Amino acid sequence: MKEDCLHSRKVVIIGCGFVGAACAFALMQSGLFSEIVLIDSDHAKAEGEALDISHGVPFAKPVKIYAGSYDDVRDASMIILSAGANQKAGETRLDLVHKNIEVFEAVLPQIQKSGFKGILLVVTNPVDILTTVAQRYAGLPENKVFGSGTVLDTARLKYELGKHLNVDPRSVHAFIIGEHGDSEIAAWSSANVSGIELNRFCQMRGHLHSKKTMQKIAEDVKNSAYEIIEKKKATYYGIAMAVKRICEAVVRDEKSILPISSMIHNMYGVDGVCLSMPAIVGKDGVETLVPIKLNDDESEKLKKSAEMLKNVLGQHSKAIGAFHCLQKGLVEEEYFVQERPEKSGTSARIQ
Ligand code: NAD
Repeated sequence: MKEDCLHSRKVVIIGCGFVGAACAFALMQSGLFSEIVLIDSDHAKAEGEALDISHGVPFAKPVKIYAGSYDDVRDASMIILSAGANQKAGETRLDLVHKNIEVFEAVLPQIQKSGFKGILLVVTNPVDILTTVAQRYAGLPENKVFGSGTVLDTARLKYELGKHLNVDPRSVHAFIIGEHGDSEIAAWSSANVSGIELNRFCQMRGHLHSKKTMQKIAEDVKNSAYEIIEKKKATYYGIAMAVKRICEAVVRDEKSILPISSMIHNMYGVDGVCLSMPAIVGKDGVETLVPIKLNDDESEKLKKSAEMLKNVLGQHSKAIGAFHCLQKGLVEEEYFVQERPEKSGTSARIQ
């Protein structure tokens, strides 16, 4: 299917649990799409969510919401992939890797078979590992497959900083980078409030011992999913707003700078794994990474975060590689040479 045959206002959500359903609800209210398709291995669940969310449409903008199948994927402009197990209390995101690679083994071949040519947004955790897996096996160009990454963690950071400094969080410019998980890094050296360097702004607001507070804020941000899961078993509203924001950037070709998870090539000493760095996001997906300034400590932590992710991937990539090669009668190297598409679009260079 040619890209110009894509239905630019059609989105498919695969996996309609807490996260998928909350995304559908946020997208219904946003008016961004005219067609929202819900797919779940539990079809009745997808039907129930579609019905429930549809009943809010008269209060929003016209949009068709229905439970569908992979036959509905082909002409969609975006897929949001949120199928898979969530963290239980005490579990890390990385603890989900085995279960959710199995879910991706079931889902990715169906996406590939459907002829889908749009943007694939991975939300399922561990999101960096699964984005790397999806990049390899969804049959799409690299720039069109990315993860929600630390867009949510960054929102949490802005929210906490805004609260601490008593300013609108939208005026806070700061990123969480690296893994969406325990090795994530608050990039303090590039943080500012409307152009004023963060330390100076803290002093301006009467906070003289900002270093300790900043460390606490970063720790709270890192642990907030654990706290929410402990209290209410799952997190979904924040991620739904993050997904809505990413969809907005794609559908409206906004070229917004968002810390999504994308493939890193020789940057900050990191190579060959997906993790979050600020990137320009528009209709072709990831246009280019934005090389923000990092100090030595942040660079070192970023490298460690990437190494850890690569180790986890290394432990599991054989299983998933073997699965696909078996399907296609290929050895893994041949699979990469023959089937991996080039990046698409004129502006698709990822640096
Ligand atoms: P959930 O258990 O409520 O829902 C998962 C859904 O996936 C279920 O409805 C299940 O039927 C469906 N599913 C399972 N296998 C499937 C398959 N093969 N095909 C289609 N559907 C399938 O979980 P949740 O709370 O919605 O979380 C979903 C994922 O999102 C988890 O991995 C969670 O950790 C992740 N998450 C990510 C972020 C983020 O910032 N990236 C934030 C919150 C949650």
